[in-house]
Amino acid sequence: MREYKVVVLGSGGVGKSALTVQFVTGTFIEKYDPTIEDFYRKEIEQFASMRDLYIRNGQGFILVYSLVNQQSFQDIKPMRDQIIRVKRYQQVPVVLVGNKVDLEGEREVSPSEGQALAEDWGCPFMETSAKSKTMVDELFTEIVRQMDFCPLPDRSDTCCSACSLQ
Ligand code: GDP
Ligand code: MG
Repeated sequence: MREYKVVVLGSGGVGKSALTVQFVTGTFIEKYDPTIEDFYRKEIEQFASMRDLYIRNGQGFILVYSLVNQQSFQDIKPMRDQIIRVKRYQQVPVVLVGNKVDLEGEREVSPSEGQALAEDWGCPFMETSAKSKTMVDELFTEIVRQMDFCPLPDRSDTCCSACSLQ
């Protein structure tokens, strides 16, 4: 069986864990142990180099913002730049996701803003809800599809590693 290494990126609280848990176990977790989760989040977010490490190992990327939080939409843009920089490659398999579509009444990011960014990046866009299980299976199906049809080149194939004879 083929293994797919998917990295889910986005600022704290957008629903990265909830989406992943919903996909894997079919349940929605309202609240994690705040101590463990908080500790984990601080540890990760303090060290940007940790994120480089995840990106280096990832083959496909789900970039998540919360559509009830405009700031989280702004936060996602430099993360995509970081992926391109670390991978030294433009055509990285990516899906852009606006999560928490069940909270329509509190929406701060319109579907057309998400769509426009995805068009800019040349990647698929979807709005999901880990809570109501909206488009969650479709999201993971889509990233796997991207990885099958537009895979990253092997590191040995890339210009930079070939030129430096690594
Ligand atoms: P992470 O920091 O990105 O991993 O975010 P979490 O998965 O821990 O989710 C942060 C909070 O948002 C938690 O209280 C979740 O229950 C809640 N949450 C996550 N996804 C959704 C969603 O689709 N809808 C709603 N209403 N809440 C969500
Ligand atoms: Mg989390």
